[in-house]
Amino acid sequence: MFILILGAPGSGKGTQGKRLAERLGIPKIATGDILRAAVRADTALGRQAKRFMDAGNLVPDHLILDLIKAELATPAASAGAILDGFPRTAAQAELVDRLLADRGQRLNHVLLLDVDEEELVRRMLARARLEGRSDDTEEAVRNRLAVYQRDTAPLVAHYAPRGNLHRVPGTGTIDEIAEEIRRAVGR
Ligand code: AMP
Repeated sequence: MFILILGAPGSGKGTQGKRLAERLGIPKIATGDILRAAVRADTALGRQAKRFMDAGNLVPDHLILDLIKAELATPAASAGAILDGFPRTAAQAELVDRLLADRGQRLNHVLLLDVDEEELVRRMLARARLEGRSDDTEEAVRNRLAVYQRDTAPLVAHYAPRGNLHRVPGTGTIDEIAEEIRRAVGR
């Protein structure tokens, strides 16, 4: 089963995606985690991606599309995966659709974690104090939210006609939100 978790930065995609992946026994693929690891390891991708990430901008599609292709091609992801943080643009969404369709698969569910903007900012700035992420400065946080609205929120219209988009309120306890997700996914 392939499940996309869509939601603004700070909406809890990582937390809920991890729980869902563990419960369903499928891997979670998070492009943000992969990119941060590439930056730490100082790879060619990491060096190219860092300045976009630090400013809160998307890493350009020409750097991301091959990464998505490689991640979906791993044996671990052959029967299913939780997609966290991608697709984030129309080009990425089309690539994921095509890669899965070529294998006779599809995104079975798209979950949209709904959290209002002030709560998102509050959460991300709290996380900045805890984790010291270089893109959790107030300026980068505001920019990431604007980029989400501009480039990623339109994907809702891409998936809505398929009838498998579930809006999940992203406020409440972690357990409450996980329960809403369980209900939406039906298992
Ligand atoms: P995240 O941890 O998902 O919030 O991602 C952190 C940062 O990594 C984002 O602000 C982007 O700069 C970059 N990033 C992660 N995933 C993608 C993606 N699918 N496309 C472009 N940039 C991404």
